[in-house]
Amino acid sequence: MVNNFGKIIRIFTAITKESFEYDGTRYEPKPLVVHPSIANGLVCPPGCGACCKKTSLHFNWFDLTPVYPAVDYPDLQNHATGWIDSYGGNISLDVDFQNNNQADNCRWLNQNGRCQLHGMHPFICDFEPIQVKLGNSINYNEIRTARFSKRALIRRADGDHGAKCEFTGPTEQSVSETVRKFVRLEHWTKHFDLRNNWIPEIMDYLLSGKWREGPLVLPEDFTLPPRAFKYPGRDLLKRLVGEERYTRGQLLEKLIQAHPEVPKSYYETLLSDCKNPAYNRFHRLVVEEQGIYLWKRLEEGEQDLSNEEQAIGELIDEGAWTKDDIIEEVVRRFPETGRSAISQLVSDAADDARNWMDDDVVINPDGTWRLWSRWRDELDPDDDDYEA
Ligand code: SF4
Ligand code: SF4
Repeated sequence: MVNNFGKIIRIFTAITKESFEYDGTRYEPKPLVVHPSIANGLVCPPGCGACCKKTSLHFNWFDLTPVYPAVDYPDLQNHATGWIDSYGGNISLDVDFQNNNQADNCRWLNQNGRCQLHGMHPFICDFEPIQVKLGNSINYNEIRTARFSKRALIRRADGDHGAKCEFTGPTEQSVSETVRKFVRLEHWTKHFDLRNNWIPEIMDYLLSGKWREGPLVLPEDFTLPPRAFKYPGRDLLKRLVGEERYTRGQLLEKLIQAHPEVPKSYYETLLSDCKNPAYNRFHRLVVEEQGIYLWKRLEEGEQDLSNEEQAIGELIDEGAWTKDDIIEEVVRRFPETGRSAISQLVSDAADDARNWMDDDVVINPDGTWRLWSRWRDELDPDDDDYEA
């Protein structure tokens, strides 16, 4: 059984303020960006269990007392015969390697797709869906809530495919649930003597409601690197059209003023195309009313994106799919649309000039795609689009 303790090390790496060593490797601290999505709630309906594959499960005694006072620890031990106590080095940890489990799924998953350890999940199961992205090629790390990668392909307990989880917006309950997870993480960091970390700042971010204002950037004076776009200004145009007070001439003037390096003809074409259903590359069509540019209002039941576009956007949002994987998956879901049309939509999503999504797409060093969130743009002081 592969030990997935590396997942916990990834979380430690993201939140540490000082370097530490594990298994012969030294992990260095970097600035951290905490995305407001960590305040969101997860809905895990019955009958799924898609994320519960056979894997090593890590526990600690303090998980079961201060965090879960209602759980009877000796009872868990009775169930957990064959556990390996003591994980390497000097630090003790309980690990269930599931060596005798012949199934693909975790042995704690019941036939209804429910975890039999509900309420006292192993650390990693509990911390999901909060995910960490380490900046191996960029100079900062990220923490955010995200769907399980390749969720459409993973097999559920009922044999069908597709994780059922959905996210809700932030609620009082979801915020306190995230706080609970970070309290648990704090116990773990203390256990591993990784005390100098960003957890106090993250707790303050959650408890004070500052997540409503955008991401948390740590340290505060860290400046996010600017984007490198061939044709910037799309975000500025989106925002200005949303204000519903500018004519075409005024929009053109503002775009050129903000980005004199961009050919004027590009913006002229953009301002014409955004009103034409055949060429528009924004999430919604622009209309002109009494000379003012504004987003077309939706009729009841009308949606901005086609089902194919929505599926592509969701997959990119998961941040774990390469371009080819995205095309394959969307072709599998919408075979009648045709591979070439879907390939074109996917290619356009990553093209500055033709992106039809609300957010921009960036390609990770490992070839997977992810969204460049507007939250981050709004925070980026080097982004001319958001000059006052
Ligand atoms: S312990 Fe529970 S939550 Fe974790 S993988 Fe197993 S069944 Fe799923
Ligand atoms: S994949 Fe999502 S819905 Fe399915 S068991 Fe895991 S968290 Fe729940």
